[in-house]
Amino acid sequence: PVVRAEVSQETATRVSSMTIPSLQKAWYYEEYGSAKDVLKFGEVPVPEVQPDQVLIKVHAAALNPVDFKRRLGKFKASDSPLPTVPGYDVSGVIVKVGSKVTSFKEGDSVYADVSEHALDGPKQWGSIAQYTAVEEKLLGLMPKNLSFAEAASLPLAIETALEGLERANLKEGQTILVLAGAGGVGSLAVQIAKHVFGASLVAATASTSKLELLKQLGADIAIDYTKQKYEDLPERYDVVFDAVGECEKAVKVVKEGGSVVALTGAVTPPGFRFVVTSKGESLSKLKPYLESGKIKPVIDPKGPFGFDSVIDAFTYLETGRATGKVVIAPI
Ligand code: NDP
Repeated sequence: PVVRAEVSQETATRVSSMTIPSLQKAWYYEEYGSAKDVLKFGEVPVPEVQPDQVLIKVHAAALNPVDFKRRLGKFKASDSPLPTVPGYDVSGVIVKVGSKVTSFKEGDSVYADVSEHALDGPKQWGSIAQYTAVEEKLLGLMPKNLSFAEAASLPLAIETALEGLERANLKEGQTILVLAGAGGVGSLAVQIAKHVFGASLVAATASTSKLELLKQLGADIAIDYTKQKYEDLPERYDVVFDAVGECEKAVKVVKEGGSVVALTGAVTPPGFRFVVTSKGESLSKLKPYLESGKIKPVIDPKGPFGFDSVIDAFTYLETGRATGKVVIAPI
């Protein structure tokens, strides 16, 4: 029996390494530019798995504005070398674990933002590919009730929403205004403010057709920014979460001593800006809220986009009009 066990383990190792190819299909670019000019579909190497990493067979990915800003060369100075496989958000199944990995195993369904620092040396081999290698500390076990497409829609945006609200020091019973409440990050910030932090009043902005969604997400007040200027309304908030990039206006509606957290654009005091750090811990913290259905992923109804439609998906995200997340699935 001892001999048989050894043989079968060896066979299992051989089978699993045989099923992982050395080349894979992926989207990549070799120079910075527009989606249609530089994005190519072809074969690239399957990334090596470092001791602290797992290899994920990708089932779904999602796009974030940082993907196109990076592709346009805006973070050239701190970017990883070209060629680049874009994509921060991934969901899939672990097919190989590095020697130092302790909390995950082959066969686990996981999701992650694959780059610990979004702008500073993000991964060269991202998630818009058949396989991607990710550090254990960035991973979360997928909530059981979510599809791969739903899980992939979450990591970067939900971790940004959580970290932003933590940094703004939002407290139970306080009030908050979320600018761009129907976008990728905003749609999660509204839900987290309400259901995790226990805000007493959540206001959010969007254009007319998205006001109903804001209400469904838990907003108490939905402000149509095409008809009303929030800065002209009497309400003042403990926290303003600015996912638009209009800090100068946002600071006008914060209470004295309150905070304004800005994701993008120029900062006006007392507003402050931060860049999300990817952490598996954030996903673990939010898992119960996702599994109970208190927090729901929001996938843009134009998607999910197929693995062959990544250029269309980017072009759509780049209009700045997406509702929730632009997802690529199945991969
Ligand atoms: P999205 O592309 O998902 O945002 C699109 C949404 O923005 C749409 O629903 C649109 O609604 C809304 N919107 C656009 N203009 C306005 C406006 N003037 N007022 C209200 N809503 C508006 O982007 P994300 O949510 O993913 O990201 C938002 C920004 O934050 C991006 O610039 C991104 O790069 C940045 N970011 C920064 C991070 C950081 O760590 N610092 C992390 C994540 C994102 P409508 O169609 O109704 O106008």
